[in-house]
Amino acid sequence: MRVNQIKSCPACGPNPSICQEYPLDIVSIGDDVYQVMSRGHHHPEAFIKAVEESPYNEWGLGMPDYLWFKAVPCDGGVRYFPSQGRGSFPVTYAQESPKGERYRDFLESKVGAQ
Ligand SMILES: [Zn+2]
Repeated sequence: MRVNQIKSCPACGPNPSICQEYPLDIVSIGDDVYQVMSRGHHHPEAFIKAVEESPYNEWGLGMPDYLWFKAVPCDGGVRYFPSQGRGSFPVTYAQESPKGERYRDFLESKVGAQ
């Protein structure tokens, strides 16, 4: 089942290849700020829903972004840095956001406007 698939990736163009080939797997990477990501570029709705069903559903999230990250070993764990270079991979990323600027608020405001 590929419900997360987006036909045309806004970040990679109309024929995305590898950015679609990662399972939706939510990872919390926040430090002081609540941040979550999954490898691969996933549909924002599917991404937010997966976060809400994950153990990391602690804060309202802003709009998901399509980025490229690099994983660097650090203190026995891994840290992620934005990078387009060799060894980087696509991620869907979102961080906590004040009420009124959250993804869910955005969807509701669109429904209300119709
Ligand atoms: Zn992409």
